[in-house]
Amino acid sequence: MQNKFWALAMAGAIAAVSAAATPLPARADINVSGMGNYCSLTWPGGGWSFASMPDGGDPCGWLIAQSQPGYTIQRKGLYSPNGLNNVVVRCNATGSWVGIYRGIGNGPLTAAFNSANKEKQTSCIFTVAPAALPVFTSPFSLGAAYSHGTGFDFARGTIATLDVSQFGQPGSHAANTVDWKGRDRTGYINDHAGHDWGMPQGTPIRAVADGVVISARDWAMPKPCFANNPSKVQKEVSIRHVVRGSKGYYEQFVTYYAHLSSYQVAEGQKVVQGQLLGLSGMTGCASAPHLHFGTLRETNTANNRFETLHFYPWPQHSDGNSFVVDAWSFDAPKGFDPWAYRAYPAGALSITLWKNGQAPSVGTW
Ligand SMILES: [Zn+2]
Repeated sequence: MQNKFWALAMAGAIAAVSAAATPLPARADINVSGMGNYCSLTWPGGGWSFASMPDGGDPCGWLIAQSQPGYTIQRKGLYSPNGLNNVVVRCNATGSWVGIYRGIGNGPLTAAFNSANKEKQTSCIFTVAPAALPVFTSPFSLGAAYSHGTGFDFARGTIATLDVSQFGQPGSHAANTVDWKGRDRTGYINDHAGHDWGMPQGTPIRAVADGVVISARDWAMPKPCFANNPSKVQKEVSIRHVVRGSKGYYEQFVTYYAHLSSYQVAEGQKVVQGQLLGLSGMTGCASAPHLHFGTLRETNTANNRFETLHFYPWPQHSDGNSFVVDAWSFDAPKGFDPWAYRAYPAGALSITLWKNGQAPSVGTW
């Protein structure tokens, strides 16, 4: 049985800090080792360059040292030198030439470079992401009673419907809800930008990784969502996580925990992985007790090196955010993460962010 329950975690999401092009101060960061670094530069007039260093060196510095002035660092981030990576290359002033590549180590990066170079494309921007960057632990005890409802929908915004045969799955040629396996999930909540797990009121909710609380608030909605829940105040917490590799290269994420019955952290507070944030509940836009868990990328999204988080006004939901991603990645039998390139200028590459054995069950989702 499809379980549509609980609806709509988030109407307004997430506070924010505008994207800064300066290095972030050290603060509750997560350090990872063994990652490669990549850099994508452009120049006015159509010039571009792209380099990667699997040993964690500084490809931006290397490119800049041998380049003309006037460049813009379009993307700069982490990839896996030995694991699976996804690459989107977008060229021309309008970004109309697009290449997508998936493979091990430098393979897809090199293929993307060679393809754009061979075809003499201009203004090329390369966005790279490892398929996995395992830094999260479960936001609740995996021994607790819980069950998954609706998950992350890859079919939203300008790609509101997708043909799931492109992902090697049976189902509709115009599915309005598509999960991380490329499956047709029509009937579940459409455009949902996170995962819902039903659980008893009062279940401890914990930080999935070290980070800084960027919002902990009673978010007041103008009216209740559900007749069975008159609450107009949603208790919710957002945490920023900076995942640092070497030479100043990093990726940045925000996790979002909604419908809490209470929270015990405050904006600006550093938290460590596993720290108690609050207790689950059904405040705000919920028809039954559950946790809505969302993940957002702030670095190296489809159209930006940095994104800026916004509050969204009622009744808009988080699907308006260009940078929401699935912490399970996109892993269909075939095809490529559609939200990462077809939704351009929205979208971002999803990444498996769970540590081994730490992903909560998504049931049949
Ligand atoms: Zn939800």
